[in-house]
Amino acid sequence: MTHLAFERLPHPSPRPAADRQAILADPGFGRHFTDHMVTIGWTADRGWHDARLGPYAPLAMDPANMTLHYGQAIFEGLKAYPQPDDTVALFRPEANARRFQHSARRLAMPELPVDTFVQACELLVRQDRAWVPRGAERSLYLRPFMIATENALGVKPASSYLFVVIASPAGAFFPGGVEPVSVWVTQRYVRAAPGGTGAAKCAGNYAGSLIAQAEAAEHGCDQVVWLDALERRWIEEVGVTNLCFVHGTGSEARVVTPRLTDTLLAGVTRDSLLTIADELGYPTHETRISLQEWQEGCADGSISEVFACGTAAVITPVGHARTEDTAWTVADGRPGPVSMRLREALLQRQTGLTADPHGWLRPC
Ligand code: PMP
Repeated sequence: MTHLAFERLPHPSPRPAADRQAILADPGFGRHFTDHMVTIGWTADRGWHDARLGPYAPLAMDPANMTLHYGQAIFEGLKAYPQPDDTVALFRPEANARRFQHSARRLAMPELPVDTFVQACELLVRQDRAWVPRGAERSLYLRPFMIATENALGVKPASSYLFVVIASPAGAFFPGGVEPVSVWVTQRYVRAAPGGTGAAKCAGNYAGSLIAQAEAAEHGCDQVVWLDALERRWIEEVGVTNLCFVHGTGSEARVVTPRLTDTLLAGVTRDSLLTIADELGYPTHETRISLQEWQEGCADGSISEVFACGTAAVITPVGHARTEDTAWTVADGRPGPVSMRLREALLQRQTGLTADPHGWLRPC
């Protein structure tokens, strides 16, 4: 285990408590940032160095910064949840750390050790504890990311990088209760191709997805469903979340989700829900699922629920789906019992209301 010593330079003038309270009363998502950030530098000769917890501040950037031109930029998203005993805990930060390493490898960037990633997140949460919103489904969202810092033109991996963690208080995703979304299946755009960067959480993947999200909105839908690049036949993801299907109902219900390939992002929520589903007695299956199977399963009633899953919303039921030629409803279009039960079970684990058999919570 490598342990970098973090220099601590707390903010000389953090925001007044009254301003913070005003933000925490209605945090929204990703609009406000806490008083501090963590930064760690990397160069080939020094490795990881200059680990620092300091005031949240702009990053000075040279116009020739290689990130701006060649896009070596990766990120993560995870949450710290208030616990019943008034402590705060991160949920599965090691899983995000490992995915961050995977993203780094794919983009020819240096891999931050898992324990350093986790330590950086913990340090920031501890420092900015007062920014963790209390109340149902509220949390502190952490955004670790890494960019190139070399200033030069010429396409090659940069010779220096900066790892940063910032934090943002997050309100309930569904303040008025869970609402299903409608989804648009794009036949025109693809998110990821075999051999590409789909399994990495890199900035470019999101830039490339925005036009399809706009296409979905033009067709009156909330989110876009991604099909595979080669056959445009197999379901991959929806928006920036993984997708799960519930087959059958009651004691016969089982959860089916696309198996992981190099064109899907391996969601931490997906993985957690598969574990919890098994524990609750819902068999799980990771396989290929075609668009046709989805449509037919809804038509003949064998698919009873469909839901999207990710850190931001935990579970979002999918009520309606559309393509260029057709549209269909999933069951009655309302949130189903299996989706809601899984959602509640995962939220309870995250907020320390039930046992934590897998050690998913990391107290800060
Ligand atoms: N797919 C994509 C493309 C994503 O950006 C995310 C969000 N990180 C997910 C799936 C869900 O991942 P997680 O459950 O780790 O938030």
